[in-house]
Amino acid sequence: MIVILKQNPDKAQLDMLTKWLDDMGISVHTTVGHLQTILGLVGDTSKVDIDLIQALDIVEDVKRVQEPFKNANRKFHPDDTVVDVGGVKLGGGNFQVIAGPCSVESEEQICTVAKAVKASGATLLRGGAFKPRTSPYSFQGLREDGIRLLVEAKRETGLPIVTEIMDLSQLGLYDDVDMIQVGARNMQNFELLKELGHLRKPILLKRGLSSTLEELLMSAEYIMAGGNEQVVLCERGIRTFETYTRNTLDISAVPVLKDLSHLPVIVDPSHATGKHSLVPPTALAAVAAGADGLIIEVHNDPAHALCDGPQSLTPKNFDRLMRSIDALRPYAYEREA
Ligand code: PEP
Ligand code: MN
Repeated sequence: MIVILKQNPDKAQLDMLTKWLDDMGISVHTTVGHLQTILGLVGDTSKVDIDLIQALDIVEDVKRVQEPFKNANRKFHPDDTVVDVGGVKLGGGNFQVIAGPCSVESEEQICTVAKAVKASGATLLRGGAFKPRTSPYSFQGLREDGIRLLVEAKRETGLPIVTEIMDLSQLGLYDDVDMIQVGARNMQNFELLKELGHLRKPILLKRGLSSTLEELLMSAEYIMAGGNEQVVLCERGIRTFETYTRNTLDISAVPVLKDLSHLPVIVDPSHATGKHSLVPPTALAAVAAGADGLIIEVHNDPAHALCDGPQSLTPKNFDRLMRSIDALRPYAYEREA
């Protein structure tokens, strides 16, 4: 349920309303927007008498929110959320590119790639330390050492770092990580999401391999219900009957998610397609569709990468793509408020 307040509401009446709702076990999330103040009511609102609230002097309108996601809902928060990742703003018109290798392999590799992507205009560095691999015999990531090397690359380049967490037991290692990624395979690891909700650190939440957009938003809701509102959604392709590409990029997820939610939406064309030659065209499609950013795999030597070489761009091809993105950005679709 949302309560839209009249301008300059009487404070005593507002406090009374908030206390009354609080006594019923309903939490109130206040959003002061450009034009209006909205109270988002979270909890069992079935027992709330809508007419009683509507009759208050301070109230302009009351609406029930049908969708099961509340905090993530644009009805609760009409303005775009801007997420601050180590000083880099993402969302609300701030477009950012996260780039780097699939996995951190060595100090030389991560620092070389970090410097290259920074020179081309990337503003955030990615790199997997704990890797979710289909086969237990594949490279599993450098784990603690991987995070240490990412922090080293951040120190050398100034780029804030983004890396995936696979299990709650690893959380203590992420103090110096600027944005924690929840991968597609963990999108519905609800215990992990709840714990990340207690942090005050940005979370990059990737869509599950076979998850609907509503399921993705419900996973964001798990994080936000704990009070962590710094969530970025990521479309990374879904499973379909098509086998030519690694996954199928659901480009319409971008405008749909941006209509339903105020959270920033980025696209991962690398995991969506699985082929480096398809990364630039799909990345540009995502920009055109109004994405708030991209996450792209870049490797200095894709042929010898320990993970996802076939979908990794060389620094040179990444630089070319960044020039095309710069040229396209002024024509990107902007949703009407
Ligand atoms: C990744 O970004 O490194 C990754 C494993 O992606 P996804 O979870 O989308 O498969
Ligand atoms: Mn990868």
